[in-house]
Amino acid sequence: MTTVTNLGFPRMGPRRELKHALEAYWHGESTAQQLEEAARSLRRRHWELQREAGADIVPCNDFSLYDHVLDMAFLFDAIPERYRPLVERDAHAGYFALARGWQQDGLDLHALEMTKWFDTNYHYLVPELHAGQTFRLRGNKPVDEFIEAREQGFEARPVLLGPVSFLLLSKAVDGSDCLDLLDRLLPVYAQLLARLSQAGAEWVQIDEPCLVLDQDGDDHAAYRKAYRALADGNRPKLLLATYFGAPADNLPLVAELPVDGLHVDLVRAPEQLDAVLDALGEEKILSLGLVDGRNVWRADLDRALRTLRRAHDRFGGLRVQIAPSCSLLHVPVDVAVETSLPDDLRSWLAFATQKIGELRILANAVKGRVSAYAALDTARAQWVSRQQSPRVHRAEVAQRVGSVTASQLARRSAHARRKHAQQERLGLPLFPTTTIGSFPQTHEVREARAQFKSRKLSAVAYEAFLESETRRCVRFQEEIGLDVLVHGEFERNDMVEYFGEQLDGFAFTRLGWVQSYGSRCVKPPIIYGDVQRPAPMTVRWSCYAQSLTPRPMKGMLTGPVTVLQWSFVRDDQPRATTCRQIALALRDEVLDLEAAGIGVIQIDEPALREGLPLRRKDWRGYLAWAVESFRLTAAGVRDETQIHTHMCYSEFNDIIEAVAAMDADVISMETSRSRMELLEAFVQFRYPNDMGPGVYDIHSPRVPNVEEMTALLQKAADVLLPGQLWVNPDCGLKTRGWAEVRDALAAMVSAARRMREVV
Ligand code: GLN
Ligand code: ZN
Repeated sequence: MTTVTNLGFPRMGPRRELKHALEAYWHGESTAQQLEEAARSLRRRHWELQREAGADIVPCNDFSLYDHVLDMAFLFDAIPERYRPLVERDAHAGYFALARGWQQDGLDLHALEMTKWFDTNYHYLVPELHAGQTFRLRGNKPVDEFIEAREQGFEARPVLLGPVSFLLLSKAVDGSDCLDLLDRLLPVYAQLLARLSQAGAEWVQIDEPCLVLDQDGDDHAAYRKAYRALADGNRPKLLLATYFGAPADNLPLVAELPVDGLHVDLVRAPEQLDAVLDALGEEKILSLGLVDGRNVWRADLDRALRTLRRAHDRFGGLRVQIAPSCSLLHVPVDVAVETSLPDDLRSWLAFATQKIGELRILANAVKGRVSAYAALDTARAQWVSRQQSPRVHRAEVAQRVGSVTASQLARRSAHARRKHAQQERLGLPLFPTTTIGSFPQTHEVREARAQFKSRKLSAVAYEAFLESETRRCVRFQEEIGLDVLVHGEFERNDMVEYFGEQLDGFAFTRLGWVQSYGSRCVKPPIIYGDVQRPAPMTVRWSCYAQSLTPRPMKGMLTGPVTVLQWSFVRDDQPRATTCRQIALALRDEVLDLEAAGIGVIQIDEPALREGLPLRRKDWRGYLAWAVESFRLTAAGVRDETQIHTHMCYSEFNDIIEAVAAMDADVISMETSRSRMELLEAFVQFRYPNDMGPGVYDIHSPRVPNVEEMTALLQKAADVLLPGQLWVNPDCGLKTRGWAEVRDALAAMVSAARRMREVV
């Protein structure tokens, strides 16, 4: 019999109940006990949902009040000293202080660093370790949640992040090697496994997602040592889980580890099946990741069934389990509530609950149950309807994507020549000043949008409101003395959603929330069909703003890679193709802006770097189409039209060549926190175009003064040509208040003026 399992379920709840419970607790409106009660009832609800959908075994300890990596660090007492007094006094307060920082009672603790979980949009907290670090078990969360599930009648499999990935994902604050701590960490894992075994856990899912990355000999030695150490002793059976790719060159190592089962991601890496079947020996069980835990589409069940049968034929039903490709943390809970989506589109979608339902169908089908065949027929009909739908496929888009020419991908002249033409037109001073686009999205602005969306405010009144905000923003920038102005982006809710709502091929859910970090969720658009632009999207606001001032007004667009990266995308064509479609739609927008007299156009690509594949060998291919999409968007303009791009915080070292190949006239980026260190890559590379390394940290309410900004500019000017340098903040100002922004930008303009005096 094939068992249906799951590697992890979304934590937020169908209606973001966890978010509300957390925020109530943080605001002092509820107690820790009430928060724990809410968490407990959510866990129960999630287990019920999974069982109802057809799971035989549900995960436990996949739930977290904030983040599962933080949970492991906390469980092992890997708590930096600065938090310790607080943790000892109040464990809940201490736990959240690690996640969010703490400013109270004379204490000022900064939070742990946060970073992306592999190539997802989920952020985990990076444990801070140091040489000589000790570990011990603090509390018993995995065991408690296992017992909690059993008491409620669920057969649960605890999920733990494995020791090697835990160390590889951590950061040593003293520059030591985290893997050196393995010997100290393993006894604690062994103790935890023993406790789980005593509590009656038959299996434990131990995640080692780093096994799908490039791993070196030291890493391999660490896995060997770790799993040899954990093999002995009183412990449950271990299912080693890999996901987000294939172990590939790490497979021989994986196969030799003394564990009892292996989970593989057959959605991202279907090609690995035969190699895995060959490598696994006679004893281990195999968990097949058959439905996509990273995306929202229904699976091709016929194909999944063929895969399952292949494994079945080789291993027999008892040695095969089925599961989603990875934890379902990355998809929303239930598509059934999305009643405002068109019926056919909704029938193509599977959120967490539906995905488990799909696995049930597969398990039943392989058993030869007649009922499963009817379900397969329905699934097939849905699949075919998607393949053939005119909603998805538009001949004119395919035709256009297929006929892109090399000349569409290159500006007419080289940068030096363009720069000259732009200078003639714009007449900017040295060290020109500008901002990244958004100005404060005040409560008033968000309130007006909400009123408009709920039809309490008429379109006419809303437009008038936006016009007055824009007018005020333009006046403000003129007063401050900025050189290239922006309209302020008051009409935008979000930099991707705003464009998605105006493009064909995008859909939006009502409750399709996905956890980004802590209580923060995002609701990614769903790109379901060929992308087309029915009408100009931003021209109206850019032209309105330009009409208010003689200074250059910068048009503001979100780039194709970022739109792609922050959406759920089609799985029926390569990402590169979808990206190219978006690029063509944006290219039309760029040309319309130019035709309307906008002389400076910024195309934001903050997500370019996060789109990098997990394996180095795949970088080149990705960067080729990502850069090509940017160029396709930007390159249609005349020499005298100035193209800017913007990227947020980003290590540029290993992608600088690609960034240069984008050939934007000006790039702005986040550099103030690193005190211009991030500029190093540009200097080394002798980056030829112009750039604006940020001098104002917009993530902090702190207002930087003229001296410190001048010092940063001086640092940049020392290594760049004076004519190359722009002066701007790190990123958009939408999260800031007007008073801070006024002071900071006024100081920034003064700093630019000082620089002009010295050259
Ligand atoms: N233009 C956008 C803004 O200013 C850019 C945001 C971003 O880089 N994330 O808000
Ligand atoms: Zn930014």
